[in-house]
Amino acid sequence: MGDIDGNTLLARSLKEQGVEYVFGIVGFPVIEFGMACQMEGLHYIGMRNEQAACYAAQAIGYLTGKPGVCLAVSGPGFLHTVGGLANAQINCWPVLVIGGAVAQDHEGIGGFQECNQVELARPYCKYSARPPSVPLIPMHVEKAIRLTMYGRPGAAYLDLPANILSQRVLEEIVPAQYKVGPIPVIYPQPSLIEKAANMLIQAKRPLVIVGKGAAYARAETEVTNLVNYTNLPFLATPMGKGVVPDVHRNSIAPARSLALQQADCILLIGARLNWILHFGRPPRFSPDVKVIQIDICAEELNNSVNSAVAIQTDIKPAILQLLQILESRKYVFDRKNDWWNQLNKKCSDNRSGAQAMALDVSTPLNYYAVFHHLQQLFPQNPIIVSEGANTMDIGRAVLTNNLPRHRLDAGTFGTMGVGPGFAIAAALWCRHYAPNKRVICVEGDSAFGFSGMEIETMESGEGTRTVPPTTLAFSTRYEKMMELFGKQGHFCETIPELQNAVKAALSVEDSPSIINIIISPSADRRPQTFAWLTESKL
Ligand code: ADP
Repeated sequence: MGDIDGNTLLARSLKEQGVEYVFGIVGFPVIEFGMACQMEGLHYIGMRNEQAACYAAQAIGYLTGKPGVCLAVSGPGFLHTVGGLANAQINCWPVLVIGGAVAQDHEGIGGFQECNQVELARPYCKYSARPPSVPLIPMHVEKAIRLTMYGRPGAAYLDLPANILSQRVLEEIVPAQYKVGPIPVIYPQPSLIEKAANMLIQAKRPLVIVGKGAAYARAETEVTNLVNYTNLPFLATPMGKGVVPDVHRNSIAPARSLALQQADCILLIGARLNWILHFGRPPRFSPDVKVIQIDICAEELNNSVNSAVAIQTDIKPAILQLLQILESRKYVFDRKNDWWNQLNKKCSDNRSGAQAMALDVSTPLNYYAVFHHLQQLFPQNPIIVSEGANTMDIGRAVLTNNLPRHRLDAGTFGTMGVGPGFAIAAALWCRHYAPNKRVICVEGDSAFGFSGMEIETMESGEGTRTVPPTTLAFSTRYEKMMELFGKQGHFCETIPELQNAVKAALSVEDSPSIINIIISPSADRRPQTFAWLTESKL
C-alpha cells in the first residue's frame, strides 16, 4: 500500500458509493479533484454557473434515484449552489454538493474566498459537514450519499478545505468503508390499508391524485394497475404527469378544479397538500373531503389538513396491498355513475375551450396555438423540460407525458432558471439509458435568461471522461450575442484587429459592445516566485 491524497480518496469514495456524474465549475482549490473524478471513471460536466450545475446534478438524482454531484469552488462558487440546494431539498430530490474551502490555516485571517459554507448549506440539507481529516473522507461521503437517498430524498453538502484535498496519507490508515446499503423499504400498517380501502369503497366522488413522489418511487406499474382495475378518476400534479399516461381515459386533467372541489375522498399518492394543491383546503377542496395520504415521510402526514387515514409507507407496497384488498372485494367504480358523468362533461367543455384557442393562429401567437402545434411535431415520448409561468402552466395542460419522470419543471420551489441544467442532465440520462429519446426544453423568455449561457455547455457536451475539467470551448463566438439586438460585435485574433475593435466600440455611445479576443490556450502568467494561494502550512 502506498499513500493517497484527499482528492483521489474523495473521488474514489464517490465512485464506490455509486455516483456517476459530477457537474460543476473548477478553480482553486478543486481543479485536481475534478481531474481525480475523471481518473476514477466519473463523468465530469463543466458548466457555466454553479447554480445550473446544481440543477443538473439533482435532475440526474431524480432520473436515476442516485444523487448527482455538484462541484463548486469556495465562497462565491459555493454560494451559487445554494439556490440549487434549496430547490433539491424542497423537491425531495437527491443531490450532493461538494465545495472547496479555504485552507484551514487561512481561516479567520481573511483567507481567499473564506466563507462559512457548512452553516450556510445546513438549512437546505439533510446533512452538511466538513470531513475533519483525509482518512475520514469516505465515512462522510457514505453518510452524505445515504442521507440523500434514504427516507424522503434530499440534499447534502460536504466541505473540503484546500489543505485536506491536497494532503497525502498512508492508505493503510484510511478505515475501510462500506457501501450505502439498499434503500430500506417502508411497509404500510395493514390495518391502515384496510381502512383506506373501506373509505374508497364507500366514497361517492372518489379521486386519485398522483404526485412526483410516485414518479420518484418508480411506482408507475402499481399506480397504473390500481387506476386500470378500479376505474377511479385521477389527476396528476405537474411532475406526477406520466406515472399514469396523460392519454389514459381516466385522466380528468381538464376537470381539475371541479374534481378537487367536489371529491369526497382523495387518495393522495406521493404529493403534498402545499400551494400546488391549494393546501387541500376550501374553497378549492370540499371541507368534508376525506384524504387518504400515502407518504414516506412521517412528518408530512396530516400537514395542512387532518387526513382521514395517514399512512407512512413506500408507495409501491401500499398501492399493491390496497389493490389486493379492492380486488378481493371486487370493487370497481362504475363509469356510468353521476360523478363520472359530471367529470366527463366538464372535461369535454373545457377541452373545446382550449381547442378554440389552439386553432387561433393569428399573430402574435397565443400559448395554446404554439403548444398545440409543438405537440403535433414532438417525437414520441420526449423528456419535456419546462419553465416560465405561462409557458409552464399552459404547457402542462397541452403537452402530453405518457411516461413517468418525463417532465421536469420549476417544481415545488417555483424556481426559474432550472431548465437548461435539467435539460443537460436529461440529455445525459438519455445518452446512457435511452439513446433514441429526445429532450425538449420549453422556456419562457424570462426563465431562459437565468441560465441561458448553459447553451454553451450543451454545445460542448462530449468527452465527459476525457476533456479536462478546466477546458472551455476555445473559440465560442460570444461577439455574436450582439446580433440579438441587431448589432455587430467584434472578433479579434490579432493586435490590429483588437485596436480597430476597441476604437469602434468606444466610438459608439449608450450601447454595449462585445470584443471577443482569442488567447492561446497555453498562455499563462510569467513564472512566479511564490505559489499563489497554495502556501498553506498544513
Ligand atoms: P408534487 O409536487 O407532485 O405534488 P411533492 O413533491 O409535493 O409532489 O410530494 C412528493 C411526496 O412524495 C413527498 O412528500 C415525499 O415525501 C413523497 N415520497 C417521495 N418518495 C416516496 C416514496 N418512495 N414512497 C412514498 N412517498 C414518497
